[in-house]
Amino acid sequence: MRHAGDISAAAAGRCDAPAGAARAGDSWPVLGERGQRRVFCGLAGIVWLHRKIQDAFFLVVGSRTCAHLLQSAAGVMIFAEPRFATAILEDRDLAGMADCNDELDRVVGELLARRPDIGTLFLVGSCPSEVIKLDLDTAAERLTGEHQGRVRILAYSGSGIETTFTQGEDTCLRALVPQMPASDEPSLLVVGTLPDIVEDQFRRLFAAVGIGSLQFLPARSGTDLPRVGAGTKMLAAQPFVGDTVAALVERGAELIAAPYPFGIQGTRAWLGAAAAAFGIPEDTVDAACAGPMARAERGLARYREQLAGKRVSFLPDSQLEIPLARFLAQECGMELVEVGVPYLDRRMMDAELALLPVPERLSEGQDLEAQLDRLRADRPDLTVCGLGLANPLEGEGLTTKWSIELVFSPVHGFDQAPDLAELFARPLNRRARLAF
Ligand code: SF4
Repeated sequence: MRHAGDISAAAAGRCDAPAGAARAGDSWPVLGERGQRRVFCGLAGIVWLHRKIQDAFFLVVGSRTCAHLLQSAAGVMIFAEPRFATAILEDRDLAGMADCNDELDRVVGELLARRPDIGTLFLVGSCPSEVIKLDLDTAAERLTGEHQGRVRILAYSGSGIETTFTQGEDTCLRALVPQMPASDEPSLLVVGTLPDIVEDQFRRLFAAVGIGSLQFLPARSGTDLPRVGAGTKMLAAQPFVGDTVAALVERGAELIAAPYPFGIQGTRAWLGAAAAAFGIPEDTVDAACAGPMARAERGLARYREQLAGKRVSFLPDSQLEIPLARFLAQECGMELVEVGVPYLDRRMMDAELALLPVPERLSEGQDLEAQLDRLRADRPDLTVCGLGLANPLEGEGLTTKWSIELVFSPVHGFDQAPDLAELFARPLNRRARLAF
């Protein structure tokens, strides 16, 4: 094993999809698919998680491929000392000829000696570490004992064997839940990473609505964990945090059913659901939201003109597909062709499905070639897909949007609604310019 220092990245994991549960929702026929998938792995989550949790360090225990993936995805940090790295498993490690735990202990010891600013160290599992069954949970416990009081050390999996890239955030946040202090005091806990600027906007809105006891998971510091208990009501900010939500329910918290805060209507419904859970009347929410909603409406109008009537398909990649499709159809007037999701988590998605205008097709899982055949037959105006598929599809004359950009960009809330629409309008405008 070798300590690579910093990062890079870029490989797309290619794995078998989980069984597509071809179950219909109450009224939704779902096309379940199982076959070849093409998605990024959960290591991608380190890019936005390390920006959010400012005293955390992410040590991937993986291969050179993992290091390349991270370096490509997060390689912009060339002027700052990075807060992520890869401990590379060499051939001897993979062949079982070296004691990986000894090597890991050495690498962690050197890292912590060199970086006293680290408050939480995440050991991040990968496909190679899982294949050789390196037990990072036990390693984290052992290392926590060795460095007692100095740093919190946790493990989670970013492997792409059976997951899609946003699930890396879910497994990371899930690892934090047992560490959260217990408290039955009433509070609202927002679950899912939000950029600081968006978190600050929501803090102001919740204060205006009258919800004072507000916490976020993750918080800006890994050592400043929110409290959880019977008085905690949860509002998910991202649709891919289902395992974290389940773990918080086990700690006594209660999930508020709500759509996601994408677009004006989604954000209004999200805030309204939280207010209702705290017994706050609708007219109080209306008063708090009136100004931001009017501002967002003015900004959105020009993009609605550009998007209305255009046909859009989503390939399964980020788990954001359903809320974004709802926004594009409801608020921008787009027509939904196929809406594909990596997996359909009913608990996290029912409130969205209730608002989603019926697409031509709703699919779960992926059988890549079959999906591409349908896409070529559909020829939508815009295809939202993973990075690895975008260029080949552009080469076939289709206009694409990278779904990963929608996770990296601030897109939640009223003030970001026009920016969110602009992200979809931009490739259409580029294609129109090229046509002249
Ligand atoms: S975790 Fe797996 S899919 Fe991700 S870069 Fe490493 S080997 Fe590839």
